[in-house]
Amino acid sequence: MTIKPKVRGFICTNAHPEGCAANVQEQINYVKQQAPVANGPKNVLVVGASTGYGLASRITATFGCGAKTLGLFFEKPGKGRKSGTAGFYNSVAFEQAAQAEGIYARSINGDAFSHEIKAQAIEAIKADLGKIDLVVYSLASPRRTDPDTGETYSSVLKPIGSSYTAKNLNTDTKKIADITVEPANEEEIQNTVNVMGGADWELWIKALKEADVLAEGCKTVAYTYLGDKITWPIYGHATIGKAKEDLDRAAADLNNSLSSLNGQANVSVLKALVTQSSSAIPVMPLYLSILYKEMKAEGTHEGCIEQLYRLYNECLYSDAPRLDDTNRFRVDNLELKPELQARIEKIWEEVTEENLYDLTDFKGYSDEFLRLFGFGFESVDYEAEIQTEIETSF
Ligand code: NAD
Repeated sequence: MTIKPKVRGFICTNAHPEGCAANVQEQINYVKQQAPVANGPKNVLVVGASTGYGLASRITATFGCGAKTLGLFFEKPGKGRKSGTAGFYNSVAFEQAAQAEGIYARSINGDAFSHEIKAQAIEAIKADLGKIDLVVYSLASPRRTDPDTGETYSSVLKPIGSSYTAKNLNTDTKKIADITVEPANEEEIQNTVNVMGGADWELWIKALKEADVLAEGCKTVAYTYLGDKITWPIYGHATIGKAKEDLDRAAADLNNSLSSLNGQANVSVLKALVTQSSSAIPVMPLYLSILYKEMKAEGTHEGCIEQLYRLYNECLYSDAPRLDDTNRFRVDNLELKPELQARIEKIWEEVTEENLYDLTDFKGYSDEFLRLFGFGFESVDYEAEIQTEIETSF
């Protein structure tokens, strides 16, 4: 069979195995072209390792630091005529590339919020790695089942306090229209914190520490986005922002519990990018299309891999890390430059359906969205027959 993109709203429901491999290889090539990260980690656990920022974290650890990695994710294999998820094919390609260079890579596919998957990860670390010196927490999920109570929480993307009306681009119809999002109630806010806040990051570190698989000086990071005026009402000051504030609380608690190992926990602030998760956030596709246009024009555009290489090099393993006054690593500095944000705000006011392709890089946004699923790579023959089912160790 051949595989062509099937886009429904803000998601693409299939993925191309060879295209996903091309996407992974491009990121590997980027890291290999950079100087190796000095004093980087040796044994890395990445929770949420198959797409977006987590995949870039794993690639940087492996190809920028020569580290062994254990990657966790929740992805579907292909079956018959139904393709697997992009994260599944990315992970197949990543493992093959790591193993081709003789660098250890093992993956576990399952619910990282559960006790079982934490136990499986600890078993794998004990068997193969001994101790971990970096734990990257990069989960993005719409729901989470609390492993102790069995209760399932769903997150919402809503403002807090009052409703919010803003320009929104429908990426399917390419229509721009105002949308109004009603404010979240208390329960929705709390549920979002339960899913995307720091609770599970803390459970991971507690389980790893109790199992004595964290090395002296172990570091851990979890990722957040802060943004600026345009995105604050729906992100920074909204339900997801509340959940992300909880990461700051968790980081402070984790720093206390890791002090016996001279370890450190930091929230890391990354820039806005097209990923499977961010394309679902109202306002984001239009904001990103403008951001891409302006950052490409000034030569500062970055994707996941450029951000992650900088996070390792300029923050995690730097003698003079870029930290803010709340102990967060910052690699969102180029996005938040006031003059850039002022230009974006001006374009935001002016953009219409008619001038969308002139004032924004919506084409670049759409191309990058499809590339997440392995579509649009010149090196791939999309007319060639391809198997959806691939043998893996995970
Ligand atoms: P993504 O959707 O590309 O990746 C999410 C990862 O989580 C995947 O590997 C997926 O398999 C895994 N996952 C989801 N549920 C799981 C579960 N139950 N068990 C195991 N694995 C599971 O998302 P992303 O955009 O790379 O986001 C990663 C982190 O970075 C999030 O915390 C996000 O808030 C943050 N962040 C994203 C942006 C952005 O613009 N995309 C910006 C700054 C920070």
